Amino acid sequence: MTFESLGLNPALAHACAQAGFTTPSPIQVAAIPPLLRGQDVLGLAPTGSGKTAAFVLPLLQRLLAGHPGGFRRVRVLVLAPTRELAAQVGDVFLRLAPSSDRPLKVAVLYGGVSINPQMLRLRGGADIVVATPGRLLDLLDRNAVRLDAVQSLVLDEADRLLDLGFAAERERVLLALPTRRQNLLFSATFPPEVQALADELLHEAVRVEA
Ligand code: AMP
Repeated sequence: MTFESLGLNPALAHACAQAGFTTPSPIQVAAIPPLLRGQDVLGLAPTGSGKTAAFVLPLLQRLLAGHPGGFRRVRVLVLAPTRELAAQVGDVFLRLAPSSDRPLKVAVLYGGVSINPQMLRLRGGADIVVATPGRLLDLLDRNAVRLDAVQSLVLDEADRLLDLGFAAERERVLLALPTRRQNLLFSATFPPEVQALADELLHEAVRVEA
């Protein structure tokens, strides 16, 4: 099995090789083809399974193939429970993005640090936002970020997002997004609360397991 046989283009397959990934992990084999087709995906996958690259690679390919008019508008939004995870996911996008004369811009937004540098960074536009929900809502309240061009929404570690209060924040975030979009939900555990969130968000999702 190769990354190209999953439908990834040579530039992304090359980025995988550069990152030291020789073969796709099982969750990547299962998730990449439906994500490339634009389908919703429910991923049951713990940290360590390669789940981050499983969504980063196809989302990068869709971004790079997309309409140039979308450049510097937020087209991918990833919500992560903690600052550490948001930073890690942002790094994976940067690490796997093929080099280009118009590199994609990633904004990583989390609380516990000054909001002003994040507002400044957003002013120049971003293609990908990786955020913790509280700080994202704060930035939405200040009109510092627009999410009306988002094509793909990712809830990473959805079980931990819910533990940290996402059930209450979810509606305000979703209201800022277009209703037609691709939705991805990844979770290490699958209690009834996660099932309810998946039922609300996902449409005809492909279920994949690590
Ligand atoms: P994650 O489950 O996304 O937290 O990834 C766990 C670790 O696996 C990270 O350090 C990745 O860089 C690494 N990784 C992801 N995909 C692959 C792959 N196909 N081959 C080797 N390592 C990988």
